[in-house]
Order: sequence, then structure tokens, then C-alpha cells
Amino acid sequence: MKRLTAYVLGISLLLAGCGGPVDPDKAQESIQVIAMDTAMLITTYGERSPAAAYAAEDIIRDLEDCLSRTIETSDVSRLNAAGGEAVEVGEDLRFLLREAARLSAETKGAFDITVAPVASAWGFTTDSFRVPSQEELDTLLKLVDYSAVYDRDGPSADSPAVSLGPGQSIDLGAIVKGYAAGKIVGILREYEVPRANINLGGNVLVWGSRPDGTPWRVGIQDPARPDDKNALAGVLELTDSFAVTSGGYQRYFEENGKRYHHIINPATGYPADSGLASVTVAAPAGSQALWNGTMCDAYSTALFVMGEEKALDFWRDHQDGGSPFELVLVTEDSRVIVTGGLADRFTLDENSGYTCETVSYETAS
Ligand code: ADP
Ligand code: MG
Repeated sequence: MKRLTAYVLGISLLLAGCGGPVDPDKAQESIQVIAMDTAMLITTYGERSPAAAYAAEDIIRDLEDCLSRTIETSDVSRLNAAGGEAVEVGEDLRFLLREAARLSAETKGAFDITVAPVASAWGFTTDSFRVPSQEELDTLLKLVDYSAVYDRDGPSADSPAVSLGPGQSIDLGAIVKGYAAGKIVGILREYEVPRANINLGGNVLVWGSRPDGTPWRVGIQDPARPDDKNALAGVLELTDSFAVTSGGYQRYFEENGKRYHHIINPATGYPADSGLASVTVAAPAGSQALWNGTMCDAYSTALFVMGEEKALDFWRDHQDGGSPFELVLVTEDSRVIVTGGLADRFTLDENSGYTCETVSYETAS
């Protein structure tokens, strides 16, 4: 079992002056949280900003405890260890299993949480990286099938039990931070937080605007320069939004001069090799937050697997569907493609060396 040592750094900035009332716009709490294998930064504003930030941290830790694949007592670990038998699990996992099934169906399997045995074979669960043989991958690919995950009792049952197919296991790594961000929106509302910037490592939630009234600026990492956190492909200006990025540069190993990253194409068992270097999915956080946060995370992974053409087709097909989202695609041949809804919110970094194209609804086919 692997669990990162967690620590919290609390910086309270209550700029109240000498004994005067707290200015709700300036009161600010910023905490760093190490969880879900990620360094996270939670910044909340408002009179109740400290309580809100720590409540957000509680959400993350509770979700990690029940959804981590590497914590033995988690719901996910119990399900993975059950050998196909039914297991009673909590509402968070049941929600995610239902949504994951939907997301897999609509992405035609590009997103599939049952890819876990394959991801493990590459060593991404344990950090003992290796290139599996084709024979091994062929055997493991038979276990990759989201439709074999079974919810026995339906969404409203009193005795919630779910099961996997024999030999299957699941990994919610591609979806859990987006779900956490969606849940944190509930905390921001409950604590009447006027503005916040929550960065769950590639999953960003911006709430309200910046204290000076301008939109939050969300940097899109230059995938070609992953070690320089200041190297950006560009910047998105957003309010009340999720912006989730998946990229092959985030987690990878090299063998014989070839790079293997952690986003697996469930059709091949190999790291996705679609010509995309990163995918950012943005959607509103003001309504349907739980769904939109989860969706952005799942789509960023799935569209990275699909590649430019299919990703843009997918975007176009969803424009009438009631859950609009927008994209920033960075390609391996140094282009940045921005979908119409973000055209006037994205600024290319002049020093990035990328060219920028905007795609409209009509030209996306
Ligand atoms: P990150 O977790 O780095 O933000 P993603 O959201 O793209 O990145 O999720 C990648 C993780 O999801 C991998 O580490 C692996 O556990 C799992 N995974 C990899 N490929 C897929 C896939 N095609 N569908 C669902 N989950 C995947
Ligand atoms: Mg994801």
C-alpha cells in the first residue's frame, strides 16, 4: 500500500486592520494539500474563508479514503479485491460508477475506468515502470470492458451493492479530482465564499472573479517544457468555471529513448499516441457543478486519447446537448486549437513558439 505523507500548510491572511471589521473581499485563506498523488492549492476568500478552505480539504481527504486504489480499506480497493462478488459501497463510488459508464459509452470507450489492470502492467500504480509484452497486454485487454461493471440495485436502492467482472479492477484517477472539484462548489456556496481559486493539480476551479473584479487567469502549461512551471502555451481568463488539463507530459517514464505516459488508449493497451500534447476542457461551475466537474476531468482524458479530429467532432456533437464545454488542444506539431466559446478568453503566450487557431461550430467537422 502506498500513501503519500500528507501535510498542510496554512497561511491565513486576515487583512482586517487593527481590530476593525474584516473586509470580506480581502480576507483570504490559502492552504496546500498533498493528496491523490498531487500537490493542491486551495485559496478561498470571504469572512469564512478559513473554514471553507479546511472544509474543502476534508472533502478531498474523505474522497481519497473511499476512492483511492492504493488505500486497502477504500471502497474501490474492496471492490477490486472482491473477485467479481457484490460489494456494498458508498454513494460517492456509486455516483461515479454510474457516471463513468455513461462517459465511457459516449466516448466510445476512450474513457474506461476498467483500464486499471493495463495501467498497472505499465507500472503507473506502483511507480515500478516497465513496457509490458504484447502477449501480456492482449491478455489484460480482455478485462477492459466498462459494461461489465454492474450496479445491482439501481440508483435508489436501500442496499447498494456493485460488482465487477471476474479479474477486473477499476481506477478512478481520471475522474476523481474533477468530482472533488464539483463537490467543493457545494462548500463554496455553503460558506458564502465570494471568490476562490482551487487548483487540484491539472484540475482548476475558479469561483467568482479576482479581488479586483477581473477574471481569474488560468495558465495552460507548455507541454514541451513541463519542468518549467512558468512556461505557458497561453492563458485562459475565466470566472465560475472548471478548467481541466490532461497531457502526456504529466506522468511518464522513458525506456530506450522512447517516452511512455500514463494515459492509456483502451483500444491498444498502449499510452495514447494521438498527436495531441495536452487537452484542456472548460465548463461552467455555476450550475450542475458535480456533473460538470466530473465531465471535464473524464473528457480531458478521453479527448486526449481520441486525437484532434475526433475531439473536435465530439465537441461539435455536444453543442446542442445541454452541457456545453469548450476546449484548448495543444498538438505535438506546435499548434494551439481553441474552440469558439473560448476564442476571446484565450491569449497565446508570445514566447511559446506555438501558432493559434480558433475553431467555430461550422468549421469543426
Ligand atoms: P491526471 O490524473 O494526471 O490529472 P488524467 O485525469 O488524464 O490525468 O487521468 C489519468 C489517470 O487515469 C491515469 O493515471 C490512470 O490511472 C487512469 N487512466 C489512464 N488512461 C485512462 C483511460 N483511457 N480511461 C480512464 N482512465 C484512465
Ligand atoms: Mg481526467
